[in-house]
Amino acid sequence: MTLEARKIRLLMQLRRAGITDTAVLAAIEKVPRELFVPPSFHDQAYENIALPIGLGQTISQPEVVALMTQSLEATRQHTVLEVGTGSGYQAAVLSRVCRRVYSIERHGDLLKQAEARFAELRLHNITSRRGDGSRGWPEPQSFDRIIVTCAAELPPEPLLAQLRDGGCLILPVGGQGRSQELLRLRKTARGVEREELGLVRFVPLVADLPEKRSTG
Ligand code: SAM
Repeated sequence: MTLEARKIRLLMQLRRAGITDTAVLAAIEKVPRELFVPPSFHDQAYENIALPIGLGQTISQPEVVALMTQSLEATRQHTVLEVGTGSGYQAAVLSRVCRRVYSIERHGDLLKQAEARFAELRLHNITSRRGDGSRGWPEPQSFDRIIVTCAAELPPEPLLAQLRDGGCLILPVGGQGRSQELLRLRKTARGVEREELGLVRFVPLVADLPEKRSTG
């Protein structure tokens, strides 16, 4: 089966799984996932599975990328922050549904590879940098939407602080070795409203940079 045929099969699976937002489906159709996985996994790029990208990290399952993107309710007017650039695939999908994407990754090597993919695909509305995303974007900035693609024990406060009123934050919450709850937190005049979107499994959000760890 060709990659194109596999992509069509995947899009049908996503529709059956409840992905109805045509902007999200179009973005997944347009972004070549095979460019975001190591060459040895090219033929599995359109399977509905997470795949390894090195350094113990993964590119998320397409159904989870689609669900999180749809649940963000992002539009062409919105600025979105992503924590956990990884391969860059989720940022590339977001770049096709919103105005600007800011994406932050703690591993410099993964970030470099993701940035090369953004350049190759001419995705000029993505700004990316290395850093600890649990502290939010390092410069003062507020976002219409925030998506976290690694699991935290609790929603990081700095991210809620950088979320605009009326905006929402999607993130998996929970520890490792068990399923985590995918949450949508909406910032309203009455406070933060919480919705549970289902169980997921993500690598952990790690709140420091690899080279900065104490060796003592
Ligand atoms: N969104 C990615 C993609 O489309 O390929 C998948 C992300 S992968 C499941 C999670 C990523 O979060 C890893 O690349 C990991 O290094 C990163 N990460 C973990 N803790 C982080 C932190 N505090 N700040 C930034 N990135 C972090």
